[in-house]
Amino acid sequence: MNLYSVKQLMRKNILSLVPYSSARNEFDGEGSVFIDANENYRDFIEDKGLNRYPDPQHKALKQEIEKVMGIPYENMVIGNGSDELIDLLFRIFCVPSKDKILMMSPTYGAYKVFADINDVGVSYCPLKDDFSIDTDRLEGQCHLINSGVLENGIHKLLFICSPNNPTGNSFPLDQIAEIARRFRGITVIDEAYIDFSEKESAIALLEDNERVVILRTLSKAYGLANVRVGIAIASREIVKIMHNVKYPYNVSGIQQEVAIQALKAHEEVASTITTIVASRERVAKELAALSFVQKVFPSDANFLLVRVDDAPQLYSMLLKKGIIIRNRSSVRGCYGCVRITIGSEEENRLLIKTLKEFEAIL
Ligand code: PMP
Repeated sequence: MNLYSVKQLMRKNILSLVPYSSARNEFDGEGSVFIDANENYRDFIEDKGLNRYPDPQHKALKQEIEKVMGIPYENMVIGNGSDELIDLLFRIFCVPSKDKILMMSPTYGAYKVFADINDVGVSYCPLKDDFSIDTDRLEGQCHLINSGVLENGIHKLLFICSPNNPTGNSFPLDQIAEIARRFRGITVIDEAYIDFSEKESAIALLEDNERVVILRTLSKAYGLANVRVGIAIASREIVKIMHNVKYPYNVSGIQQEVAIQALKAHEEVASTITTIVASRERVAKELAALSFVQKVFPSDANFLLVRVDDAPQLYSMLLKKGIIIRNRSSVRGCYGCVRITIGSEEENRLLIKTLKEFEAIL
């Protein structure tokens, strides 16, 4: 079996790309008169430098992430949410209408949407009934290794979401490491929910596997879903190309500033994570005691996947009470399931109270 280098896996046009060089990229130093970027000299809203282009390299934000999360500066790319970073990986590695990706099922739905947008085929590896990875199937039918000839198109990306959305479980790190070691393309490990888990991050895999990319987001534990900040962690080679391909000013100065503030509040973030995890365990127990609940799946995330007698009915009943959950009952592998995010203590109490009322009239 031959493994490919990162360079071999990249699209040829991307490898030879001469990136756009913005004014803010070309200037690095002290200045007092900035007449290099065709900006307006006035800031009409507040005196916050809104008239100036932001730092395209996100230096201050990366420094803060390095300080708080311990992720090495040179291995980081900041995206407009991790969704942007997923799309970037498609654009860098997958030749449209030729290459494919490999993903688990069920998992985060956006991988397939970005594949469709980029005209890239998808092979699915269904998870087992307990939502663990079916390694035999991955190896055989799902082409983990036997994925053809590079020139004719191969599985370029393998997405492993751990903890997985919508199932909530994590996959063992040694299993992920072994899969990533053997997969000929790039293994993308999406750790959007890792802050709610006690499991170890896959970042350490980067030490001896340059074909691994880890994704993180500030949308969940850091409470910045509205702000749009995602982080890719990868080898320097991949980081360089991701910087070349991203929009020059993909993350605004406001986003960068707010993200830095949230990172500085990391102690409060940590205590809220503890609260959410404790609530998750309590809500799981209370849900499991309801007569129409068949199963509450164990979760390492900030949500619970729950199999109920009638998911669409439960969804509409809660909707009428103004409580919105996610009906996942039509998702392959999640039949009869709803996904419930852990909210504030008051929201969780209201959910359980409403469900008990519902149980009483069933
Ligand atoms: N990965 C997973 C597994 C997710 O569930 C989500 C959002 N629901 C994302 C990535 C996207 O996150 P972001 O807000 O950073 O784009």
